[in-house]
Amino acid sequence: MLENLKKQVLEGNLDLVKHGLVVLTWGNVSAIDRNNNLVVIKPSGVDYKDMKLDDMVVVDLDGNIIEGNLKPSSDTKTHLEIYKAFNEINSIVHTHSKFATIFAQSKKEIKPYGTTHADYFYNNIMVTRELTNKEIEEDYELNTGKVIIEKYKSSKVNPTECKAILVSEHGPFTFGKDVKEAVENSIVLEFISEMALHTINLKENELPMQKSLINKHYLRKHGKNAYYGQKK
Ligand SMILES: [Zn+2]
Repeated sequence: MLENLKKQVLEGNLDLVKHGLVVLTWGNVSAIDRNNNLVVIKPSGVDYKDMKLDDMVVVDLDGNIIEGNLKPSSDTKTHLEIYKAFNEINSIVHTHSKFATIFAQSKKEIKPYGTTHADYFYNNIMVTRELTNKEIEEDYELNTGKVIIEKYKSSKVNPTECKAILVSEHGPFTFGKDVKEAVENSIVLEFISEMALHTINLKENELPMQKSLINKHYLRKHGKNAYYGQKK
């Protein structure tokens, strides 16, 4: 079942390796079929070089395995919680990519310092609050999803306008309308994180770029009257 979605999820996972965003078996990509409310996700702890189409696991929104012989990613509950909260998100990518994770570990949000950021993300890349001891001990992966949702809601940021967030002391999650976009956002997030770190080191103040330039670059690509790229 869901052969096409499985293929996209497998390729998305392999793309993380290709772009240097994961080492060993870290990281995971999932995607949801909104018509059937079924999620395809990477299996837990399988080597990327051995990963096959049939290794992808299909689960329902309660986490029951619908198809697959392997255990799904240990982060499955985080993914499911986010799919349940945000209808516009159809794919989720989680990595420990180096520079984005440095910001997550420093509990420091990433301000938009230049147009590369504004081409993809309309806001600061936010950092969630720390989990409480109880949240870590009782239902860690579910609560990781909950603090991500809480951060978007309490900050009144629409996840479709900023499809990346950092989990405090952990690492980045990115989103997309499909696997391709979610993976692309992970690649771009890592790129802007590395540039932001160097920018902070060189910059005399911590101020972000001017708002008018953010608006220009984000909205010409994603706004109502977007004009970037070729007409579809
Ligand atoms: Zn992780």
